[in-house]
Amino acid sequence: MSEQGRVLVVDAEPMVQELVRRRLGEAGFGTVAAASGQEALAAAEGGGVDVILLSAALPDGDGLDVLARLRAMPSVEGVSIALMATQRDAESLRRGLAQGADDYLRKPIDRVELTARVQALLRLRRHLAELRRKSERLEELNAALERLATRDALTGVANRGSLEARLAEEVDRWWRYRQPLSVVLLDVDHFKRVNDTHGHGAGDAVLRGVAETLVVAVRKVDFVARYGGEEFVVVAPSTDAAGARILAERVRAAVAASPVEAAGLDGAPVTVAVTVSLGVVTLPGAPEAAALRLADLLARADKALYRAKQGGRNRAEVAE
Ligand code: GH3
Ligand code: MG
Ligand code: MG
Repeated sequence: MSEQGRVLVVDAEPMVQELVRRRLGEAGFGTVAAASGQEALAAAEGGGVDVILLSAALPDGDGLDVLARLRAMPSVEGVSIALMATQRDAESLRRGLAQGADDYLRKPIDRVELTARVQALLRLRRHLAELRRKSERLEELNAALERLATRDALTGVANRGSLEARLAEEVDRWWRYRQPLSVVLLDVDHFKRVNDTHGHGAGDAVLRGVAETLVVAVRKVDFVARYGGEEFVVVAPSTDAAGARILAERVRAAVAASPVEAAGLDGAPVTVAVTVSLGVVTLPGAPEAAALRLADLLARADKALYRAKQGGRNRAEVAE
């Protein structure tokens, strides 16, 4: 018969140990024995134990201290622990339960009660393990869901929904603190040509490449999002007009200096030169700034971007 579960029996008295182990063995449990706190900790260290029966009185100290140390061990996580104490030592039982024991057994130990309790403790252990597995899985799923909801699937940067949420937050913050806030809207130049010349696969590679360059070129506190097809937005908090101009120029130069390797229509590798045009808008920190709406902010950046296109592309223009 295979083991139902493995029980660590911690008791200094050979008689008690022997009795408990024999009884558990008959009931189909595997057992390990320890005669002291030190032995118990060593035995638990390696893992593989499902239930621990721990005597409250041990030769090298208080069972409650050992209980606390067991509870702190990673290998004991989720393991059920029951204290064993005599009727006279009821105080240990009370404190033990308060300090993390799952159950207790009164000494002298009743044979029927012993197996019944160990069975229940094992069930508790299994339920806890199951619960932990499920909650880990749930956390993974939540993270994946969060990613799906907030990230652009092609480039991995924030999607339009989270851009709008972030912009709304930043505008609220602006009303409160009046720190300058800058937004850069950028659009890949002649992107249609990339698709037409090298196919959509290469077009997608260009979008991923631009996103990557953007993320590296901006500050950690800046926020990069894909706004639409080949348009991206950088939100730069606490950045004034001069800073935004520097930021836009850095982004422009970084993209222009990072041609994208892709597979062309015939599958052969092609190197695609990429440039972007940028429109920059800044809400100054000055309190007299006019009332603003989110839409205005992007609309103003868009107008500046249009001028950048008109002016020959691969350049940045600042909104009036
Ligand atoms: P301009 O310099 O004036 O911006 O020229 P452009 O060709 O970039 O601009 P236009 O707006 O004419 O074309 C944008 C093109 O972007 C249209 C479409 O073919 C392409 N596009 C939009 N979204 C995607 C996408 O997700 N993947 C790929 N491969 N192409 C896209
Ligand atoms: Mg466009
Ligand atoms: Mg374009």
